[in-house]
Formats: sequence, C-alpha cells, structure tokens
Amino acid sequence: VFVAFEGGDGAGKSTQVRLLADRLRTVGQRVLTTREPGGTPVGERLRDLVLEPGDAVVDPRTEALIFAAARAAHVEQVIRPALTAGRAVVTDRYVDSSVAYQGAGRGLGIADVEAINAWATGALHPDLTVLLDVEPEAGRDRRADRAAEDRMEAESDDFHRLIRLTFLQRAAADPVRYLVLDATLPVATIARRVAERVLTLADG
Ligand code: C5P
Repeated sequence: VFVAFEGGDGAGKSTQVRLLADRLRTVGQRVLTTREPGGTPVGERLRDLVLEPGDAVVDPRTEALIFAAARAAHVEQVIRPALTAGRAVVTDRYVDSSVAYQGAGRGLGIADVEAINAWATGALHPDLTVLLDVEPEAGRDRRADRAAEDRMEAESDDFHRLIRLTFLQRAAADPVRYLVLDATLPVATIARRVAERVLTLADG
C-alpha cells in the first residue's frame, strides 16, 4: 500500500507519517517512511537547492522541474523498489504538493505540472492521499523545519490560501483516493482515523 500525506506547512504531516508507520508495524506490515522534497541523496541535494538557494536564482519553471526530478529519483530508487518488495510506503508529500505549490501557487498551471509529474513518476499514484487541512495562520505557528519556515515567511497569505484551496479541490474531486482531516484535531484522533482508512485498504 502506498500512502501520501499532504497539506500546508505545519499541518503535522511528519508526526502522522510516523504514527501511521508505527501502527502498520504493529499489525505486522513492513513499512518504509520517506519525505519530499528529498527521500534520496540526489533528492536531498535538490531540496537544498530549492529551500536554501543562496545566490542561485530558481525561477518557477526550474523549481517545478527540480521537484519533478527529485520525485523521479524518489520513485525509481525508493518507492517502487519498496512496493515491489511488499513493503507499505508512507510519504510526507508527493505530486499534489507540486500541483498546489508550483501549479497553482507559482501559477504554472495545474495540467502542465500534472503532466511533468506523470512522466517523472511513471504515473505512480498513491492508493490513498491524506490531506491534513490547516489554515495558513495556524500552520505558521507550528512550523518545525527552519529552512521551510523561512520559505513560508517569504510567501504571501494569498499564496498559502491558494495552496490550501487547491489541495481541498483536488481532494473533493476524488473522495475515494483522498481522506481530508482537520489538522487541528488532536494528534491521536487524526492518527486513529488515518489508520482505520489505511487498514481497510490494506485488507482489500
Ligand atoms: O514538507 P516540508 O515542510 O518539508 O516542505 C518544505 C517546503 O517546501 C514547504 O514549505 C513548501 O513551501 C515547499 N514545497 C514546495 N513545493 C513542493 C513541495 C514543497 O514549494 N512541491
């Protein structure tokens, strides 16, 4: 089973990735947890290029292709091999982040960003995408990652509202493949609801 967590910054994705992995292990599944941008050595270097560019100028199209390149490596080197080996894979961000941040946020267009990512991933889709929905103002106060925090501060509230709306629209269009949860619910409540849904999938 392949599960992706999506949502704005500070939604609590990394915590829920860990809790889902713990739960799956207690029912005897072998689990790989990973994150984007990153997940491989090349992906981590590409992550730095985008999140800590220094004097490098990363324009929006370049940024979209860097994220897609990192994702191609992630799928080829990490996700597919793990799924093939029968492991459950739980990732912190996947294609929906690019569609929201680069497609909508940077204005590159949702269809084009979907297209480059379909190519980059060989059209590998998660079995379930969990959207942890949070208002940008609430997420901002919960940020953990320093570089991402700086990046978030640099973007306008409108940018973050657009990201949130894009995630919600995608989820609403496909209720079978998405689970939307209010990220301000207690951590344990979110974890329980996610596990219930994923375990149904894993059984089916
Ligand atoms: O999830 P995490 O906090 O590690 O993400 C780091 C940052 O990368 C986020 O703040 C987000 O702004 C950015 N990002 C992005 N486009 C993506 C994925 C992440 O701009 N496709």
